[in-house]
Amino acid sequence: MFEITINYDTCDADQECINACPAQVYDEGEDGKPVIARPEDCLGCETCVEVCPTGSITVQEV
Ligand code: SF4
Repeated sequence: MFEITINYDTCDADQECINACPAQVYDEGEDGKPVIARPEDCLGCETCVEVCPTGSITVQEV
């Protein structure tokens, strides 16, 4: 199980995480920012962490 945290103060709604996640964990929110829609599907690959241009995502094994 992985815990995903998004810092919405620094997120610029680039949507790189939405596009890159191999498990479709994220949906697009009304403001264009990612919503963690399916956290239980997270693989812990940290692709979203790597592609985020503003460093707004952390993924931790819990
Ligand atoms: S760690 Fe991998 S599987 Fe989990 S949300 Fe990020 S890109 Fe998706």
